[in-house]
Amino acid sequence: MSDDVRQFRMLIDGRLVQGQGAPLEILNPATEEVVARVPDATDDQLAVAVDAAGRAFATWRSVPLAERRRVVRAIGGSVQENVDELAALLTSEQGKPLSAARKEVEGVATWCDWLAECEFPEEEIREDDTHRLRIRHVPLGVVAAIAPWNFPIALAIRKIGPALLTGNTVVVKPSPFTPLTMLRFGELVQDIVPPGVVNVISGGDSLGPRLTSHQGIQKFAFTGATATGKKVMDAAARQLARVTLELGGNDAAVILPDVDLDSVADAVFESCFRNSGQVCVGTKRVYVHDDIYDEFAKRLVGVAVQARVGNGVDEGVTLGPVQNDVQYRRIIQLIEDCERSGLDFLLKGEVPDGPGYFIHPTILDNPPEDAAIVTEEQFGPVVPLLRFRDIDDVVARVNDSEYGLGGSVWGRDLEAASRVAERIESGLVWVNEAQRVLPSFPMAGHKASGIGSENGIEGLLQYTSPQVLSLRKA
Ligand code: NAD
Repeated sequence: MSDDVRQFRMLIDGRLVQGQGAPLEILNPATEEVVARVPDATDDQLAVAVDAAGRAFATWRSVPLAERRRVVRAIGGSVQENVDELAALLTSEQGKPLSAARKEVEGVATWCDWLAECEFPEEEIREDDTHRLRIRHVPLGVVAAIAPWNFPIALAIRKIGPALLTGNTVVVKPSPFTPLTMLRFGELVQDIVPPGVVNVISGGDSLGPRLTSHQGIQKFAFTGATATGKKVMDAAARQLARVTLELGGNDAAVILPDVDLDSVADAVFESCFRNSGQVCVGTKRVYVHDDIYDEFAKRLVGVAVQARVGNGVDEGVTLGPVQNDVQYRRIIQLIEDCERSGLDFLLKGEVPDGPGYFIHPTILDNPPEDAAIVTEEQFGPVVPLLRFRDIDDVVARVNDSEYGLGGSVWGRDLEAASRVAERIESGLVWVNEAQRVLPSFPMAGHKASGIGSENGIEGLLQYTSPQVLSLRKA
């Protein structure tokens, strides 16, 4: 381990601070080398961050909306100015190709610009001779923003931006696997936001539970696994803190028999394997009509074998490694279980010897509906192709899931495809595309995929409480 490994600091109460104990080492998933060391926040540092956010709230809530808009836009601008550096950092910790990292970082400015224009006006609901009634949207207080490792900065800004715009202050906690981009973000916003308004802390597995058991937080904005979301909700219940939970998914794609096979195979491949399958709204099951199953399978495999798997910094690489060792071993286990159960593979991707957590695209051939690869959220570069003949049957199979995050239907006849799409039980349903998420789209996982919604005006208002101001005229 070389001594020139970069050390990061946390942003707490407007100052960049070192950790007090042994730092955590952050690995590059493509090389398994240590790329940086980060602080492991102590209980004291956590408390200072939450207290600072609490104190800052007292003034930030009253800062005129126009100024808060300026700050949100300035945050996006600062990230954009540093896009090259942030993208390189993101690839080094997350593994995704540089072009994809760049896109993720550029999305921050898009999100901030959209938010900065958002209107959430006070509503005058009635005025008569005796009364004037208004509904206001007042901020909640301190928001804890807890993010996962698949889109570390994109998913953090979707919490930080709306929280700040509506007058809340924030303590951000990135995943222990991918804290670097957000710690650098903390350095960039240090001079943009007043002290305490944004705090960025890092730590190991215990930091999340320690954060959610802190009594000074009024809302948990969480993106991560469903099992973890339940723990966050449990902790929030003890202090009646608000929650927005964006959780796991098992999105299905339904391929109708009239599709253009070549273009749809390309698009469905992208939807299944982008970010090496580590996308919450990635396609995790592909239901293909019996009439075209064999032809479609052939084309999908044809696209998959052309993917270039490798280190995200290398020219031409389209798929990076699985992000971490735990997930890598989980996916390998899942594939080995499929083999042991005698399931058929359309494509068995290579798993090269390390270093690096690489798994090439793998596609299962019509496994049974109760196989783990169909029922579980795999979150990696392995996907089952499943046959169907009857629309009612496929809709029932798609909906027979604890999850309801997204889904897609593919077909030339838009009316027919839309009729199928409307029957899918999920918060986002696409026709002839997938994974398209805009700042204005409320993302509201149905069933075990979430509580509340993120993004859109609906998501923004979840950082506020309605307040009725009933004014009796003298
Ligand atoms: P995870 O649940 O393991 O971790 C998410 C975050 O929660 C991390 O910062 C982690 O440190 C923290 N955490 C862990 N235990 C905690 C606890 N007890 N209390 C508080 N915080 C805790 O998820 P992950 O493995 O980082 O991410 C993958 C999962 O996230 C997948 O299930 C994926 O579908 C989901 N996800 C959902 C969305 C969405 O918008 N719905 C987006 C991206 C990812």
